Amino acid sequence: MNNHSNIVISIASGKGGTGKTTLAVNLALSLANVEVLDCDVEEPNVHLFLKPKIRHEDKAYLLVPEVEKEKCDFCGICQEVCAYNAIAVLKPTSKTKGNVLVFAALCHSCGACSLLCPQKAIKEVKKEIGVVVNGGLESIDFVGGRLNVGEAMAPPLIEQVLKCISRTKTVIIDAPPGASCSMISAVKESDFCILVTEPTPFGLNDLILAVEVLRKLKISFGVVINRSDIGDSAVLDYCVREDIVVLMQIPFEEKIARAYSQGITIVDILPEYKDKFRSLNNQIIRIIAKRNGFGYIKKNETNCCN
Ligand code: SF4
Ligand code: SF4
Repeated sequence: MNNHSNIVISIASGKGGTGKTTLAVNLALSLANVEVLDCDVEEPNVHLFLKPKIRHEDKAYLLVPEVEKEKCDFCGICQEVCAYNAIAVLKPTSKTKGNVLVFAALCHSCGACSLLCPQKAIKEVKKEIGVVVNGGLESIDFVGGRLNVGEAMAPPLIEQVLKCISRTKTVIIDAPPGASCSMISAVKESDFCILVTEPTPFGLNDLILAVEVLRKLKISFGVVINRSDIGDSAVLDYCVREDIVVLMQIPFEEKIARAYSQGITIVDILPEYKDKFRSLNNQIIRIIAKRNGFGYIKKNETNCCN
């Protein structure tokens, strides 16, 4: 949970393509004094809709081990301590020399191998994993991560984006879709998570998975149903059954779909939606205030309102 006096809202979805980024951008454009963090680093697209002016772009790195073989005695400790099977020790035999193989794509940069190597044979070297871009648009600050193509480790880049989290502005985090470790990395510091779904069997299935994750993390959450008039009532029935608040329903509108395909936001073509998004934000503030017993100033409690 965020420890500062501002509010941090993450927007996630069990399933891709439900309108998560659309909600993040339109909510940001409806509020004042906002920071948007694009943590969907494998497929970032907030910038396509928000169109921020990019001020700088910084390379992001992961520290991975490099073995100085002349110092190594092939004891095997590094392989034993690596929880991710990212390092393998081939002990020398009468016919072969020993070797230590590092699988950098699996390395989580925990540092255990270099710390525990008795021969001090492991040093950490930088491996570029992507970029972090900083920019903005009027009162909206923007920070986004972009993972290099073929790079598997999204969470370390997400952590680097989250280091830019504002302590004063309302923060909106566009989280990766799914319910994996990338999504967890993106939502874990938030005060509230909006789960965007659609009223289909796939939408419901993936919503259930995301709800389970948020309950385990003890993060308050609510649901927004996009294209709410297409499909069935199973998502609504599930929310009622599980006592999950449905914050907003956005019906399908061809105008919105056409605008989306051209990178145009909902509030640009239907400005009346600004009030709906502000009202969504006010609902979240009220839920957090109720949870905390006063205002939305943070307490060190972990109660989940759902
Ligand atoms: S822990 Fe150090 S000395 Fe032992 S095998 Fe690994 S690199 Fe070599
Ligand atoms: S830094 Fe951690 S994850 Fe990476 S190889 Fe070493 S022990 Fe494994």
